[in-house]
Amino acid sequence: MTDAWLITNAELVNEGRRRHADLRIRDGRIDEIGNGLRPFTGEQLLDASGLWLLPGLIDDHVHFREPGYTAKADIASESRAAIAGGVTSFIDMPNTDPPTLTHALLEDKYAIAARSSVANYAFYFGASNDNLDAIRALDPRRVPGVKVFLCESTGNLCVSDPQALEGVFRDSPVNVVVHCEDDAIIHANLDRAKAQYGDDIPMRMHPRIRSREACFASTRWAVETARRHGTRLHVLHVSTADELALFEPGPIGGKKITAETCVHFLRFTDADYDGYGGRIKCNPAIKAASDRDALLRALADTRIDVLATDHAPHLQEEKQRPYTRCPSGIPLIQYALQSTLEHVLDGALTLERVVEAACHAPAILFGIRGRGFVREGFHADLVLVDPDTPHTVRKEEVLSKCGWSPFEDDTFRTSIAATFVNGHLAARRGRLLDPNPGMRLEFDR
Ligand SMILES: [Zn+2]
Repeated sequence: MTDAWLITNAELVNEGRRRHADLRIRDGRIDEIGNGLRPFTGEQLLDASGLWLLPGLIDDHVHFREPGYTAKADIASESRAAIAGGVTSFIDMPNTDPPTLTHALLEDKYAIAARSSVANYAFYFGASNDNLDAIRALDPRRVPGVKVFLCESTGNLCVSDPQALEGVFRDSPVNVVVHCEDDAIIHANLDRAKAQYGDDIPMRMHPRIRSREACFASTRWAVETARRHGTRLHVLHVSTADELALFEPGPIGGKKITAETCVHFLRFTDADYDGYGGRIKCNPAIKAASDRDALLRALADTRIDVLATDHAPHLQEEKQRPYTRCPSGIPLIQYALQSTLEHVLDGALTLERVVEAACHAPAILFGIRGRGFVREGFHADLVLVDPDTPHTVRKEEVLSKCGWSPFEDDTFRTSIAATFVNGHLAARRGRLLDPNPGMRLEFDR
């Protein structure tokens, strides 16, 4: 089935510029970008007057839970939530069951995605205490990176052996992406909280247990170790103002050490724990308003390179449990772009910078072939945003398998008008049409 489209009168936001443009899609690719383009026979027309046209988002940090935790989420359900929200490609984490610690298990995940994903996909390899040989043998053109957990979180993939850690930083042929929190600090804080509150720890203690000190100590160690070995290090989900001193502003192409922050750290603060309870419990924890503001500034000034979601669904029933039994993680992907655009409308970020951090930067960081930019010849992964039609999130429209969202009943000032994946119109006005299978991401490096 061929999808030939002519999108007219869009406000194209790409590579630091905004301009009015028409765009032709043919054979899954962006065929032509220009002004006054005339439709060819057989082309479908989409008048994008008043709409922003952006590259589809590339989310370099998701937990789609498959295999192993498919009661919470699976690749089919979460990739649908992704494209409804304008995310056309994702890179999924290895803390599944079984964890992605061998090449065969990695290819199993690719096979599941080939059958079920409607977004484009890639999977990180996991590091353990004893799989360094498998990491050394990873093909950089086929695998985006290796994920290292420096602490316990969902799935218990913590790399505790210092020699194994050094080995990964020294020898990985692909980007090392890392979850930084210091376990010893967290355990000491948790013990203190248990002594004080027993089994009834208030949720607002979460950022004091998974504290800023735990984040800083671990991130500093990772950055120093990466400097020593010349590692390509990507620090995931930076959550504190303190850690920002460890990173530098500048174009991502010139950096070996990069930082990511996530949608929820820019939206929620520790003042929200009393109202949201376990629904916004995640690791690292959402911290203070001053952290949120510093993270927004750092994202704006390129000290933080990438904006991702850390989309991590759990069941509603699980999220209602008391603190110590409430799992960490939030489903975010379907509303990630709309939530972020609120900061654009508030003046904290430019639209061009959002496109850079959520589309261009992941493409550059991992060398993703033919995606992340609106360029002739590139895959036609595109999102059209309607900046003038507000959208109130309804529980019934949540596509994540867990069936809930922290944004329920929130009104965003923008809505997602359409998402194209590989040139195919896959979602319109938040509704899925008849999406095609996604494609495996490829890496030029
Ligand atoms: Zn994560």
